[in-house]
Amino acid sequence: QRKYLMGKAKQPAVTTDGKEILVSANISRPTDMEKAVEYGCHGVGLYRTEFLFMESAQLPDEEKQVAAYRSVAEQAGGNLCVIRTLDIGGDKHCDCLSLEEEDNPFLGFRAIRICLQQKDMFKVQLRSILRAGLYGKLAIMIPMVTMLSEILETKQLIEEVKEEMRKENIPFAEDVPVGIMVETPASAVMAPLFAKHVDFFSIGTNDLVQYTLAVDRGNQSVSYLYDYFNPAVIHSIHRVITAAHEAGIWAGMCGEMAGDKLALPFLLALGIDELSMSASQAPVVKEQIRNLESGICDVDKILSLTTTEEVREYLQSLL
Ligand code: PEP
Ligand code: MG
Repeated sequence: QRKYLMGKAKQPAVTTDGKEILVSANISRPTDMEKAVEYGCHGVGLYRTEFLFMESAQLPDEEKQVAAYRSVAEQAGGNLCVIRTLDIGGDKHCDCLSLEEEDNPFLGFRAIRICLQQKDMFKVQLRSILRAGLYGKLAIMIPMVTMLSEILETKQLIEEVKEEMRKENIPFAEDVPVGIMVETPASAVMAPLFAKHVDFFSIGTNDLVQYTLAVDRGNQSVSYLYDYFNPAVIHSIHRVITAAHEAGIWAGMCGEMAGDKLALPFLLALGIDELSMSASQAPVVKEQIRNLESGICDVDKILSLTTTEEVREYLQSLL
């Protein structure tokens, strides 16, 4: 079975009715690219750059960041690589930023909130991504967005660093798309508005489930409540993908749900454009896509279901 899957790993994932879904890799380091390529991933749907910041007691300087992003871009062989800007805080600590202990770190000073307060640090990362964009196809993705102003401020900073680099005669890629992680209830609710201001969405179900259901993603005593088949999450995902397509942008998913066989019929029916997951899952998911018809799940029906169990049962019946 494994040999069979690996033999087909590099072939595209096309449904029985001819729809291609891009299956990309979630990576933490440039060295993860070797496996991503071997397992047939179409570029990178999520590069968690915080690992570059967690590795050392000092902030990674511009040259170090350019080298890392460039390496990812080059190894992807022309396929899109989505570089998520620093997502520190929550459960991720970093010695190079002196952040205070918080009672509720998941609701605290985290990700884009830190970056917009520490603009000098953020600008170095934005410059690095734009510079590395010359060596492949890169995109910038903002984590933990809850407000339009976070998108607009980030885009403003991107314009600022471009202007600075022009003056410094530093070459960089002009056309790097900017997207957001949709991983807070606020961004799901505001998806129709946010979609007008970005080039793509990627749904981060790990956090979207946590925040939508008010369930700590790491707390075992409430893990029975943590379920992306909860109707509240199902409705949220439907809203986000629909809003993206109405605005003419693509929508992907990079949380754990993207690699779940049971979720596939639902995501295909919504017309999801890309699924991003750990590389080792990709050959299996691609083969599952090849055996599915994109319209097999009735979207109105699944939206009418009232419990997590009903959603699971319905999806199970389709497989
Ligand atoms: C997510 O929240 O779904 C996600 C992919 O990001 P992370 O797991 O890094 O928070
Ligand atoms: Mg997240």
